[in-house]
Amino acid sequence: CTICKAKNLNNKAIVFLPHHRLALCKEHFIEWFEKRVDKTIKEFKMFDKNDNILVAVSGGKDSLSLWNALYKLGYNADGFYINLGINEYSEDSKILAQKFADKIGKKLHIISLKEEIASIPEIKEKTNRPTCSACGTIKRYYINKYAKELGYNIIATGHNLDDEAAVLFSNTLNWEIDFLKKQYPVLKEEDGFIKKVKPLCKITEKESALYAFLNNIDYIEYECPFAEGASSIEYKIFLNELENKHPGTKLKFYTQFLKKMYPILNSVEKEEKSLKHCIICGEPSFNDICSVCRLKQLVKN
Ligand code: SF4
Ligand code: ZN
Repeated sequence: CTICKAKNLNNKAIVFLPHHRLALCKEHFIEWFEKRVDKTIKEFKMFDKNDNILVAVSGGKDSLSLWNALYKLGYNADGFYINLGINEYSEDSKILAQKFADKIGKKLHIISLKEEIASIPEIKEKTNRPTCSACGTIKRYYINKYAKELGYNIIATGHNLDDEAAVLFSNTLNWEIDFLKKQYPVLKEEDGFIKKVKPLCKITEKESALYAFLNNIDYIEYECPFAEGASSIEYKIFLNELENKHPGTKLKFYTQFLKKMYPILNSVEKEEKSLKHCIICGEPSFNDICSVCRLKQLVKN
């Protein structure tokens, strides 16, 4: 281990991180991971110890690793789980999320989509919206709504570097300027929207899985059945091939975008669509009726 060696200890490394040129033992990998998350939180002024954070928990490695790291770093973070009603996948992930919350003695708020609107398989059957796009909209809507009701002022999600690099790659391939302008690890609080942050944005998927494993966190190891065939998976595979040949590619692609391109994109003044409030539910929306209320109507009809 690079750190043990410097301290004249002789623990064997269990992992080599080529893009950081670091070989680390279990103890120092965990320490490195938590320090890196904390540094990211501070670099982007995400939150501090006085904030009330709500972690969007899916039961997967990223959200549970994030929650664990925030807990160990002394931040005030509870969890929020949405039961999407995707058969076994939702049942298994709910059990694991609750098991983890019990382990660290923190509150996990659980809502059921079936009670709020309809399960994801029902929404898929009754509307022609692409499933993951509808699911993403719904998840963003409910966590924002409940965070406000429950008194939290920060929403933290487990998006990792692989997720962010894949989205950046897709948005760049399609020159989605409006999406690129918003691709930042912090989305500030706006009329009706709570501040959203991504503290794992500089942590790779492998690092997050290893952190979960070394901390004995049980997480859902299989993907949601609807994830199959998503183009983001192809982009991740492609970026990982590049990463294997040139370690550091993903991190550089993402961080250099934030440093060099993001400020340029946001320096161009553009007329922003003004935010209104949904006439049905009162939540923030760019249209008279928000997308979740429209989905509800489609499901009903
Ligand atoms: Fe929702 Fe798609 Fe993710 Fe499944 S893969 S949880 S449907 S966004
Ligand atoms: Zn609405």
